[in-house]
Amino acid sequence: MPRKIWVAGHNGMVGSALVKELELKNENVLKVSRSDLDLRDQASVTGWLIRNKPDSVIFAAAKVGGIHANDTLPADFLYDNIVLATNVIHGAHVAEIDRLVFLGSSCIYPKFAPQPIQEDALLTGPLEPTNEWYAIAKIAGIKLCQAYRKQYGRNYISIMPCNLYGEGDNFDLMSGHVIPALMRKFHEAKVLDLDSVTVWGSGTPRREFLHVKDLARGVIHCMDNYDEYDHINCGAGSDITILELAFLIKEVTNFQGEIFMDADKPDGTPRKLMDSSRIRKLGWEPSIALRDGLRTTYDWFRNHIVDK
Ligand code: GDP
Repeated sequence: MPRKIWVAGHNGMVGSALVKELELKNENVLKVSRSDLDLRDQASVTGWLIRNKPDSVIFAAAKVGGIHANDTLPADFLYDNIVLATNVIHGAHVAEIDRLVFLGSSCIYPKFAPQPIQEDALLTGPLEPTNEWYAIAKIAGIKLCQAYRKQYGRNYISIMPCNLYGEGDNFDLMSGHVIPALMRKFHEAKVLDLDSVTVWGSGTPRREFLHVKDLARGVIHCMDNYDEYDHINCGAGSDITILELAFLIKEVTNFQGEIFMDADKPDGTPRKLMDSSRIRKLGWEPSIALRDGLRTTYDWFRNHIVDK
């Protein structure tokens, strides 16, 4: 019997990867568009959940963005993400749905957490200021799952992915994350025959990148095999510097010019490599190497964004 699974946020990069993987497994995936259900409206969300009664909910709806968007739209990032988490988690409880998977982010951890970051580093130190708004909302989501488990025995779990990339990403230069933004910059520089590309910050911060398809498989694996109070990390297991990443994207896009750094732009957190040994012990591991994932993402960008 296929399970009825609601992917909240099915149009986003993570949501659409989840839908694809779940449909490959012949699950019955529920999707509802923003025009039919505003996730910021508590009564509508609860009513929809009562009427549709999925067996499980996967929470992939979020207001997301790169370092610049996070830093300049603090109210949107804090309010939208708190209210989405509150409405979906509380609504699932009211509708007596016993299984929910909440997705957070590695930015929930303190700026200077010991590396690789274990799950118990949560709330042990101050956050990175450029993304604390998003982080606080995601921490609230983890705590909501824990609270409904503690008070009502709900089997709600939380998964913390590292930096994600892949098909369906936001390739906007100002609001996107580093991989899609650099992909567009290098691609446009090649097409326009420019001499150089400018990369934000010092180039020294390290980031851990996971392809969204690997994350989707990890989320489904946890939905089926993990049922604990504590959140669980889901990362690639290694990180690289932003400058190394820039050289990889230069190679993938076949740009022949130079790379310059813009030190006036923020670096953000120096490093956020997670310890993902717990999810690996459950039997999940990533399968897409960064260079390969960048190549397929670049193909997708050319076919879906540039040619449209
Ligand atoms: P973060 O992991 O929350 O900091 O998110 P981002 O993916 O936006 O940024 C990661 C790192 O890449 C930061 O140190 C940025 O300064 C750096 N970076 C370099 N060039 C760019 C760019 O063009 N766009 C973005 N978003 N980040 C860039």
